[in-house]
Amino acid sequence: QQPFLSVRDLKVHFSTEDGVVKAVDGLTFDLAKGKTLGIVGESGSGKSVTNLTILGLHDRERTAIDGEILLDGKELLTASERELERLRGNKMSMIFQDALASLSPYHTIGRQIGETYRKHTGASKKEARERAIEMLRRVGIPQPDVRVDDYPHQFSGGMRQRAMIAMALVCDPELLIADEPTTALDVTVQAQIMDLLKDLQQEFGTAIIFITHDLGVIADIADDVLVMYGGRCVERGTKKEVLRAPQHPYTWGLLGSMPSLDGPVDVPLSPIPGSPPSLLNPPSGCRFHPRCTFAEKVADGRCSSERPLLEVTDGRGAACHLTADQRRDFFADYAATR
Ligand code: SF4
Ligand code: MG
Repeated sequence: QQPFLSVRDLKVHFSTEDGVVKAVDGLTFDLAKGKTLGIVGESGSGKSVTNLTILGLHDRERTAIDGEILLDGKELLTASERELERLRGNKMSMIFQDALASLSPYHTIGRQIGETYRKHTGASKKEARERAIEMLRRVGIPQPDVRVDDYPHQFSGGMRQRAMIAMALVCDPELLIADEPTTALDVTVQAQIMDLLKDLQQEFGTAIIFITHDLGVIADIADDVLVMYGGRCVERGTKKEVLRAPQHPYTWGLLGSMPSLDGPVDVPLSPIPGSPPSLLNPPSGCRFHPRCTFAEKVADGRCSSERPLLEVTDGRGAACHLTADQRRDFFADYAATR
């Protein structure tokens, strides 16, 4: 059976004045209906670019794209701007970190939600207003029949985020892409928004791609996880596999920089030393090798000369030259220090 969303060997390269930036360099994954894929990585790992490309929001003039993106059997990379326009907001939708950037300050919340609805359904203004009120109620805005006439600046940060979710879901999209939607919120509101997304997913059966740099958020919401580094996927698997028995040194580093999932929360955080790779001149071989403390365990300097391939079995895999035994031992050592 055809997966709902299928991305195959996606490459997204931008031309810049300084050369070609290989923002995404060979990415493959599937997503089933009603499931959540968490994509995790530092900034510049290619996670946001991947999703803008799925939505067709990349700069077509300056971007060279290769590979396949099939949504419900439809190839998105060859779809016309018009077709994409029809799919966006309707079949696929997105929410971002910054609700103010997606909401217009000049129109009421209700009008903005209603217009999205009208555009895709041809509903009347009255129907659209009713739908907007209903959506505001669903995302937990108090007195939705009054607040529907508020402007974005009259909403708190958390309420604006809810309004943006209401706008994203007004046409029952089958795919929702959430790019760090809770990063700017305080912990309590963040937890509320996550619960809301989970409830709405239950209700609507939406497939969600959740992009974050925070493994704690992944632990909360994802079914499957894809770890990205330097425009490539370095590890993937179910949430349990990736968080409980990670196989890639970069994932160990990420896990090391967050409090333990079920252990004491006062473990000192150890962010990965060094900085993300330049995608203009990416490191040779394994892109993580300049930062990897395990590279010396691999013979013949292979880490800096040979790209480790991501071999995936039953959705599980890691791209690293360490042997399976080495990975098991090193992870056990690492886990013991936690
Ligand atoms: Fe580290 Fe080498 Fe594995 Fe890359 S391939 S993660 S450099 S051990
Ligand atoms: Mg981003």
